[in-house]
Amino acid sequence: MNVTSPNTLLSENDPAPVEWVNPSSVVPVLLLCEHAGQGIPESLGDLGLASGAIDTHIGLDIGAEALARAVAERLNCPLVLQRYSRLVIDCNRPPGTPGSIPSVSDGVGIPGNIGLSKADAERRVTEIFAPLNAAIRAGFERAPRRAGFSIHSYVPALLNGRQRPWHAGFLTRCDLTTASLMLDTIAARDPNLVLAVNEPYNICDDSDWFIPQFAEKYEIEHALIEVRHDLLKDRDGVEIWADHLSHAILKILECGR
Ligand SMILES: [Zn+2]
Repeated sequence: MNVTSPNTLLSENDPAPVEWVNPSSVVPVLLLCEHAGQGIPESLGDLGLASGAIDTHIGLDIGAEALARAVAERLNCPLVLQRYSRLVIDCNRPPGTPGSIPSVSDGVGIPGNIGLSKADAERRVTEIFAPLNAAIRAGFERAPRRAGFSIHSYVPALLNGRQRPWHAGFLTRCDLTTASLMLDTIAARDPNLVLAVNEPYNICDDSDWFIPQFAEKYEIEHALIEVRHDLLKDRDGVEIWADHLSHAILKILECGR
């Protein structure tokens, strides 16, 4: 694919990268959904992807936006959403790392990301990653926040066919208290759920941004929440998980540190 090099990546036809929900809320919890959107800037065409690929889990976290919006509605707290696909630039990866602008995602090649010039990569950072980063910072500066949660979804099975048994996971390195309280609160609501701390992933400096760069530095109560995406495929599923998560977050706020 021939990626042109305009002076700017985004044009007037493209949406702003950041969307806020409840921006003026002073509720002390900030929600984030870095993988909400599946937008591709017009100047990048379709990134050379096969038809429909952008609608799959490589393009976005399926169901995560609906879940994050439903939790924000219940808690009346601020939520920051990224409107562009993580295949354009992954806003939960440090810029410059291999996962930031992936040339392959879950076995699928991303032609529009192969052989990218330094200038093209920098435009994705400055026009898409940086505004989300600034919005997160603004969210913490607008009102005191004592907790922050990043909401994601994941695929039920890996490429090798191995099934992931967990319905949801709560990821953290430094705040096992919050992740465990979240797990215990949801387990008490539905004892049949399979829940875990630090599954299906772990937090790493190389593959995460919000937890290392914000939650840990600000020393707030936090977790990166992962819900299996087949549980979010319809409105009922989203409502069930929004109830679980909002109850757990309220419990965390009640308990305090
Ligand atoms: Zn995600």
